[in-house]
This record gives sequence, structure tokens and C-alpha cells, in this order.
Amino acid sequence: MKRQIAALCFALAVAGFCVAQTSTAISASKTVALKCGNLFDGRGDSLRRNVVIVVEDGKIKDVGATAPSGVDVIDLSRSTCLPGLMDTHTHILLQGDITAADYDEQLLKESPEYRTILATVNARRALEYGFTSIRDVETEGAGYADVDVKKAINNGIIPGPRMQAATRAMDVTGAYPLQGYAPNVAVPHGVQLVDGTDNARQAVREQISHGADWIKVYSDRSYWVRDDGVLDDIPTFTMDELRAIVDEAHRERRKVASHAMALNGVHNSVEAGVDSIEHGNYISDADLKTMAARGIFYVPTIYVGEYVAQGRAATGAPVWVKMISIHEDTFRRAMHAGVKIAFGTDAGGFDWKINPAKEFTSMVKFGMTPAQAIRAATSSAAELLGTQKELGTVEAGKLADIVAVPGDPLADVSVMEKVEFVMKGGVVYKRP
Ligand SMILES: [Zn+2]
Repeated sequence: MKRQIAALCFALAVAGFCVAQTSTAISASKTVALKCGNLFDGRGDSLRRNVVIVVEDGKIKDVGATAPSGVDVIDLSRSTCLPGLMDTHTHILLQGDITAADYDEQLLKESPEYRTILATVNARRALEYGFTSIRDVETEGAGYADVDVKKAINNGIIPGPRMQAATRAMDVTGAYPLQGYAPNVAVPHGVQLVDGTDNARQAVREQISHGADWIKVYSDRSYWVRDDGVLDDIPTFTMDELRAIVDEAHRERRKVASHAMALNGVHNSVEAGVDSIEHGNYISDADLKTMAARGIFYVPTIYVGEYVAQGRAATGAPVWVKMISIHEDTFRRAMHAGVKIAFGTDAGGFDWKINPAKEFTSMVKFGMTPAQAIRAATSSAAELLGTQKELGTVEAGKLADIVAVPGDPLADVSVMEKVEFVMKGGVVYKRP
């Protein structure tokens, strides 16, 4: 019963209707002071002690040492406050797919409407985990449902993070599930099939007209490890097709995210001028150099690789286990090369009941300091999303997206999985 009250309160929090004794809702228009034991501001390398963040009208008014008199104070003195976290690679329309069968089942047996209902739950989960912004990089066969979820969040109908939507990803004929069915059986596809440059431009125009903030492409498939240790692949698009997609997207002031896990997919994407490389399990030194020079982001999604590896190896794809050490080597070379790295998890590729903040521990295991990993999920992610003027750091004038974790995340980054306070745009969605 207590859970039900909390849930109802949570649901009403958006509208500001929650009753006082169980309140988790603070109206965005009221002035409130957050008394933080520590602050990680999203930019630096260390914590500031005993900081008071004053929030008014949904924005950060001041970051100082004392609370103005007469305002509501939220006591976070045993916690570390941070900017709202950003996951730049999610799939809210997916519920985890270790095997091809898991994926096929969702597309064949769940209607887009049912999947959208599940997505609203995932959006709430993302927010409760502390992710106040997400870039959702395609609906996997659920059409433009991500745009509707985003609309429902923005209209205050359901709780959820700020969303950038990629709608339907693009891939070429024969490259993406569902596959392996009899040729005479019509099955749904997880992507929009695009063949030829005219088709590519048309698909970009179509998706943007239906609300796409980003264009997502699958640039490679079918991975194997060569004798020299390089992860090889089959590139999907021709260079002409990929260039047409990027050119059309950029002409319409949208960015392109490219799923590229291996040698040729990454190389072609970088040459075509995409804005982010997703996964990037193997990237050559030459391409890393180009990425650093052109400011192309790397969104490594480490945790999901570990998560799916064993399951996929068990179904006859041992390459997924080998990819983990290749990925680590690439990640370390990318850091060394000065490539911009943004936090992204592929949540939905694994079950949303698992906290995507596990990615912080994976990034630290692969060589980042906790501060670097958290910057990847705050100020760097904001740069990738183009929201750095309003979000990504805790400073006066920015939107009040603030989270808090118990203890010191720079000493133990796994506390990022224990977000206990969530504020988005000055509205409190979760508190200790
Ligand atoms: Zn993905």
C-alpha cells in the first residue's frame, strides 16, 4: 500500500498535485535550496564541500555557501550533488535482446502500441536512475513511437527524461533483423530499409518530417576477428549512400549517429562525416586521429557488450566474447588520441530493470578516472547533444537538472548506481 501511495505521488508529481505528507513534488516556480554535502559540477576533477544550490523557476539561480532565508531547503548534506546524468545511447522501445529470438519475439508478438506502453515505464525508470536527458537511438521496428513518448514527457503526461529521438534507424536490404524467415513470409524490420542515394535522402527527409532529432544508421554487420587481432566486418552502405545520408541530415541541421563496431563501418562513417560513432569496439589509430581532429564523438557502450557476450557465445557467436578485450584496447587508444567520449549504454539492448549506470564502472575498468567517466555523462554528453548552453554542469543560469548520490563517487564510482535524488527542470522526481 505504501508503495502504491508513493507511485501515485510520483505520477502526480509532474502536475504538482502530490499531497504534502508524502510529497516528492516541489513546484518548479518556487525557490528551493539544495544543501549538498559535496558537489561535482560536471566540469572539474574534484568535489566542492558544503555547497548550496539555489533553484528558482526551474533554473539554477546560485551556487554558493548559504541558503537565502525563508526558502524551502532540501537536505542532501550526506550526499554528492551532480548535474543530471545523460545517457546518449538508449532504446526505450526495447526490453533487452540477448539472442536473435528475444529480438524477433518483440517485433513479431508485441504490437507497437504495447511496446509504447512499456516504453513509458522505461522512460520513468531512466529518470529514476538519474538520467534527466537521453538520446534514444531508434525504435527497433516501433516506427515513430519515440517521438510520441517524448511529446508525452514534454507535455507533462508521463514522467521521463528530456529526449532526443532518432525514430527509425536506416540500414540496407538484407542486413538487419528480422532475418532467416522464408522468402515468401513478410516479416517486420527493425529499421527503415534504404538502398541508393535518392532513397537515402528521401528517408532522411521523411524521418525529419516525422520528428527525428537525429538520424541513426547501421554502418556495419557480421563481425569476425582477423589473425592480426583486428575486428573486421561487412560494411552495409556504399560510400555514396552514407555520404548522401550525412549530407541530407546536415543540410537539415540534424546530426548522424552511426552504429559502427569494427574496421570498415567505422572508417566509412568517419569518412562520410557522421557526428558520433556508436559502440566502436575496434577503431584503427588512423580513424581515431581523424575523429579527434574533426570532433567526432565516440559513444563506447561497454557494459552491454559484457552483458550480451555470454548469451551470444552460447548461441554460437563466440566473437562477442573476444570483442570485450578488443574494445578495452580501443577505448584506451581513443583516450590517448584525445577523442571526445560520451557516456552511452544501449539500455534496452539489456533489460531496463538493470541500472544503466553500471556503465560508469565499466568505463573506469577500461581506464577512465571516475571524474572523466562522470564528465562523459554530463558536460561531454551535453556537447554531443548540443545542449551544453542549458545543461551538463551545475552553474547559475542553467536548467535545474540535478541528481545526488550517497557518498563520494570519485572514490567509488559504483555509487552512481544509487541515485537517491532527481530534479529535472526544478521539479523533484525522487528524494531520499
Ligand atoms: Zn543501440
